[in-house]
Amino acid sequence: MTETVLGPVWEARADLIVVGTGVAGLTAALRARELGLRVLVVTKASGDDGNTRYAQGGVAVVLPQEHDPGDTVQAHIADTLVAGAGLCDEAAVAAIISDGPEAVQRLRSLGAMFDAKGDGTLERTREGGHSAFRVVHAGGDATGAEVERALLKATVDGRVPLLENHVAVDAIRTPLGAVCGLLVLDGNGVPGVLGAPAVLLATGGLGQMYQATSNPAVATGDGLALALRAGAVAADVEFVQFHPTVLYTGRGARGRCPLVTEAVRGEGAILVDATGARVMQGVHPLEDLAPRDVVAAAITRHMALEPGGVDDHVFLDATSLHDMATRFPTVYAACVAAGVNPAVDPIPVAPAAHFACGGVVSTVDGRTGVTGLYAAGEVARTGLHGANRLASNSLLEGLVCGTRAAEAIVTDLAVGLLAEPRNGVDPVLPVAPVADRDLLQRVMSRYAAIGRDAEGLAVVGSVLDVSTVDRVLDTRELVEDAALTMAARALIAAAAERTESRGCHVRTDFPERSDAWRRSQVVRLTPTGQPVLADPVLTEGVA
Ligand SMILES: Cc1cc2nc3c(=O)[nH]c(=O)nc-3n(C[C@H](O)[C@H](O)[C@H](O)COP(=O)(O)OP(=O)(O)OC[C@H]3O[C@@H](n4cnc5c(N)ncnc54)[C@H](O)[C@@H]3O)c2cc1C
Repeated sequence: MTETVLGPVWEARADLIVVGTGVAGLTAALRARELGLRVLVVTKASGDDGNTRYAQGGVAVVLPQEHDPGDTVQAHIADTLVAGAGLCDEAAVAAIISDGPEAVQRLRSLGAMFDAKGDGTLERTREGGHSAFRVVHAGGDATGAEVERALLKATVDGRVPLLENHVAVDAIRTPLGAVCGLLVLDGNGVPGVLGAPAVLLATGGLGQMYQATSNPAVATGDGLALALRAGAVAADVEFVQFHPTVLYTGRGARGRCPLVTEAVRGEGAILVDATGARVMQGVHPLEDLAPRDVVAAAITRHMALEPGGVDDHVFLDATSLHDMATRFPTVYAACVAAGVNPAVDPIPVAPAAHFACGGVVSTVDGRTGVTGLYAAGEVARTGLHGANRLASNSLLEGLVCGTRAAEAIVTDLAVGLLAEPRNGVDPVLPVAPVADRDLLQRVMSRYAAIGRDAEGLAVVGSVLDVSTVDRVLDTRELVEDAALTMAARALIAAAAERTESRGCHVRTDFPERSDAWRRSQVVRLTPTGQPVLADPVLTEGVA
């Protein structure tokens, strides 16, 4: 990869730069500010733009004195490990789930209002893979909107500076490779430099890699690409969770599709095909509440194979739910807008790209392998999700790991571990391979979604090889397209190598799970900027 030397137009300094205004970024910024750091938050869009705002189901947590009889933190940990299909890091799971009650309490003390019963205790629902009703929610099915609202308000009230419409392009590093700042572009493409001994990536997911996704436009994998370019490694990138049920709005639908939260099934709705036959009967003991990977794969198989399938969608029969409009107002409104009355019509649904289980290899305290670079939230791979995320564990991860990352940064600063921003080498605009986004989304959806095989993955590789062009990353769109290109290449490298089916990774040519593959794969960049699998010695380190 070559680079273009740049004269930045403006510069700013802080102790910590947080990239991203979702649950992870704002939680970290608020905690760091509370601990006395000068924090600057950057986002490429407006403050509330990100996956967090769209979260529906809720936050999975076992609260003291407010849980199902017999439910425990241990049971939540056990459910997470089962969903993760053998690839979770057990210590990370235990640490994050155990910190959950305190993290939710902290969020409530910042002003987030969860749905409560008459006696003041929180309402709880159940989602796929959970053995108990332990998902707390807000506004019925508008949990993410309430989390985002509360965190943004606290950020503004606490006068934490927030720079909107600035896209993070690349890390600035010292000659020894420590991160000590960030190169950004404003909405007009004017470059600026943000100097800080610590940069926290909280840039969210990469659902825009596929044609149909529940993720908004900002979810383009930028943080993953930036971290790889800065020398960090990624893992578990082949595991992209497809939500089993987004609202099907017609053949060839593109961009963000409205989600039909799993909690609708938690409260009694069932998946059926065009003949009314149940999709999940006999597939899994939990039937319609089986883990997401199981449900999404079953729907995909049903659409492809079953005589009652209608090729590209099935139906969610929620006609037995009496309070759909009040309990699930977001879903209800989306259905009505699409001409579906859930009280009488089965809701047409299909799977869509939803959540990146893998990402930048980070500890639960946000530390990556690169000094000064931290990651938290969906961009990070802490080992919580393994091969498949348990529903409603990600807001929790953002809350817990955002807090812990801020605390780790304070510690690292105090012990003098981090670099001086003035030691950063001159900023440069990177040049990177960029594929046409529409083409990339089409080939990824066709060959690298649910149901992959060696031949299809090779097709994606060839198409990307012949269609990418090296470009200077001098606009937000190019930064995003380059990130999607790098993320897609990393994903197909890992997916092609993993000759088994596990969690969200379903190989039609290797349909069984293999014990030999009970390990994570690590991706790093070559000196020329190609994502490649790291050697097995490194791989063992994160499994
Ligand atoms: C429809 C939907 C429903 C969901 N439901 C649930 C649920 O019920 N429970 C649950 O636990 N999880 C749910 N999830 C997942 C959860 O919402 C996300 O995993 C979580 O909110 C991610 O938070 P985050 O802070 O990591 O990133 P996000 O909230 O996605 O925020 C990312 C931020 O990074 C910024 N950004 C990205 N790239 C750059 C760049 N280059 N420069 C500057 N800024 C950048 C974005 O603008 C944004 O501010 C759902 C997700 C979706 C899409």
